[in-house]
Amino acid sequence: MATKRKRSNVVKDADKWMSAYIRKSACVAGDTAVCFTCGKHGHWKYQMQAGHFQSRSKYSTRWAERNVRCQCSHCNITNGGQQYLFGLNLDVTFGEGTAQQLVQKGMELVKLTTDEIIDIAQAYRQKFEAL
Ligand SMILES: [Zn+2]
Repeated sequence: MATKRKRSNVVKDADKWMSAYIRKSACVAGDTAVCFTCGKHGHWKYQMQAGHFQSRSKYSTRWAERNVRCQCSHCNITNGGQQYLFGLNLDVTFGEGTAQQLVQKGMELVKLTTDEIIDIAQAYRQKFEAL
């Protein structure tokens, strides 16, 4: 049965849990997380953000784990995401070609159902709570 929840709230929920999971899993000691693009340290909850390699407007990569990394606000906002560095570090971290794969995937048009997005939110919530 299809859900009656409002799609925009479901999207927000998936973003929220994914962001929490990505930032907390970037912690190196206690609550201190590391920025993926500059290495700066900060509290995962209060000082760090979830930065997207391919824009959040692209639903094919919006919740792809490798597309979203922990960033400081300077990299994510002031420097527009540091996309070039982001891509280089993706290849270093996950293997050559990772950035290119995400660029390719980002160009795919996908239409997720509200139920599918609810599943994504639940999956990230579980991953977050298991940290
Ligand atoms: Zn940074």
